[in-house]
Amino acid sequence: MAVQRLEDVRRDLVKANRILSHEGILDAFGHVSARHPERTDRFLLSWARAPELIEEADLMEFALDGTALDDPRPAYLERFIHGAIYAERPDVMAVCHNHTLSILPFSISKSVRLRPVIHTAAVLGGEVPVWNIADEFGDHTNLLVVNMEQGRSLARTLGSGRIALMRGHGSVVVGADLPQVVSACVNMDKNARVQLQALQLGEFIPLSAGEIDRPQVPPGAAPMPDRAWEYWSRRAG
Ligand code: MN
Repeated sequence: MAVQRLEDVRRDLVKANRILSHEGILDAFGHVSARHPERTDRFLLSWARAPELIEEADLMEFALDGTALDDPRPAYLERFIHGAIYAERPDVMAVCHNHTLSILPFSISKSVRLRPVIHTAAVLGGEVPVWNIADEFGDHTNLLVVNMEQGRSLARTLGSGRIALMRGHGSVVVGADLPQVVSACVNMDKNARVQLQALQLGEFIPLSAGEIDRPQVPPGAAPMPDRAWEYWSRRAG
């Protein structure tokens, strides 16, 4: 994939914040970031502002250890989530951390995992792993990721996947660009709602391994995130 221009990434990052707010994935909290396209050891993330209000002037640059570069504005407490994932995953160019309500039951269930049940959610890739902060950091944390050590632990649970849930807290969603991340967030939310409803009916049929691995778009057709990205952008104004 061609390297994107910084100005395009900055514009898309503002759009992604608006879209994810408008689609109910982010509210006053949660955040979405993009890796710097020219300096891969940096990422772009707003200062600690509600996503729906973010404009280009709000974007800050961070080193992968979560240190702000020459910018005194207050940063999100949980910026280490982004830095640690960019450090562990060279393929990842965008990250969203959200607290979407629909996925939270799956982050605390001892018996049921979130897994793809609708065709648009193959991106979930099978049973979605759950990171339990207490496993490594004990039962006296506030469940937030507030340092690199915790960020790296979360990144290990994510592994090579696109999504990991965080017990009693939320999720991380990653991708090769911002439209991929936005699309995965929206489809994760839809899938979680459908799976939760299906559980009330009893047994359900998840996507098979073959259905998960199958390319979502036939060769030659326009990639799905493009069509959806235009639609979401319009809806979000
Ligand atoms: Mn959080």
